[in-house]
Amino acid sequence: MNEENSRNLYDRALSVMPGGVNSSVRAAIEPYPFFVERGDGGHVVDADGNRYVDWVMGLGPLLLGHDLPQPVESAVQKHASNGPMFGAPTPIEVEHAEFVTRHVPSVEMIRFVNSGTEATVSAVRLARAYTGRDKVVVMQGSYHGANDSTLVEGEGTHVSPSSPGIPDDFAEHTIAVPFNDHEAAQHVFEEHGDDIACVLVEPVLANYGIVTPADEYHETLSDLCDDHGSLLVFDEVITGFRVGGLQCAQGEFGIDPDLTTFGKIIGGGFPVGAIGGKAEVMRNFTPSGDVFQAGTFSGHPVTMAAGLETLKFAAENDVYDHVNSLGEQLRRGLTEICADQAPEYTVAGLDSLFKVIFTRDGPDDLDGQCEAGCRQRTACPRYEYCPKNGGDVAAGETDRWRRVFWPQMKEQGIFLSQNQFESQFVSYAHTEEDVEETLEAYKEAL
Ligand code: PMP
Repeated sequence: MNEENSRNLYDRALSVMPGGVNSSVRAAIEPYPFFVERGDGGHVVDADGNRYVDWVMGLGPLLLGHDLPQPVESAVQKHASNGPMFGAPTPIEVEHAEFVTRHVPSVEMIRFVNSGTEATVSAVRLARAYTGRDKVVVMQGSYHGANDSTLVEGEGTHVSPSSPGIPDDFAEHTIAVPFNDHEAAQHVFEEHGDDIACVLVEPVLANYGIVTPADEYHETLSDLCDDHGSLLVFDEVITGFRVGGLQCAQGEFGIDPDLTTFGKIIGGGFPVGAIGGKAEVMRNFTPSGDVFQAGTFSGHPVTMAAGLETLKFAAENDVYDHVNSLGEQLRRGLTEICADQAPEYTVAGLDSLFKVIFTRDGPDDLDGQCEAGCRQRTACPRYEYCPKNGGDVAAGETDRWRRVFWPQMKEQGIFLSQNQFESQFVSYAHTEEDVEETLEAYKEAL
């Protein structure tokens, strides 16, 4: 595989950009990442002309793949040529807000911002202001963007910032519990319930997994929040408008969070984030309330057009059927391959998310019984070995993924997420041939 252009670009980039990239995960692959020239349906083509089946899909936003369907593309072009942005409200923001509030029952009002990070920062500020409390409960190992309140490591109240540059006392307000551990959540509420502003949780750990919720886990969190006057904040930056389709993961799981953070798909491939939720809480944002929130680019017309038209396209076409069905085919195929070649590994995911987690333990003989896509439910014979939280995923063979497995898949023309923890995404542009080619490559590499 010729990689000369990517190697040279990385060499130049290292002189002018820290680590040669604008977001860390892109450089996770050594000795250098490939540089993408263009997308094509479910594929990307790199700067040396190599073509890959792309399961990264921009790390989640590209529900429809790389070629925007005609209505999305024309809306983007129209709004770009109207003049990109104005610093004044535009009709398309209202339309997009109406679409989201119509489809996600817990979202009565929404504020659009520019990234998932901005969304979680503002949601935490709003929850703190609304409750008059400081503490935030997160899941251990969870990722909510470059947010000073959530970049922590450790457990319970013994957490510290996970990055230099964040004052230690910021972490004093954050409590980390293991996902899916009912008792741990109950315990922190017994100890600190009156001080907890919110629980911030991904409905499915999609950044540190994929890990699905155990039966009744979100109900437990929801009840604890209700009983203690804390807010439940669902971080649906990844799962929003992907898991559960237009009703999002909260609809799929039947949970009614107070606030939800969005990103990725609602911007149709352009920079976006959003905070949505109950009007009673949302009204506290400036200018209707006094919780400061603002942004030059927020509700950017081109982003709004791309996001709204993407969601409308998904509502009017068989997008979710298609992506979920290919997701299912991938998980089933991978389950068979793992049962045969790597029974200690776990196939995880649901709907259009999939991943093989390089867990170290598994039953000797599953005899094809494992039901991938069963959402790691207790009924599955493999359940005991499936990761239940971020720590279980981190205990896997993460180096093997990065150093050996990822390069082997790349050599076969398959682009997987750059580390063991991020989800992989099926788009509307992927085909059954892409699935078959990918399964063959997994078979070879595993
Ligand atoms: N929350 C979750 C669950 C995410 O997955 C991400 C990004 N992957 C973020 C927040 C941050 O979003 P952004 O990268 O757009 O700031």
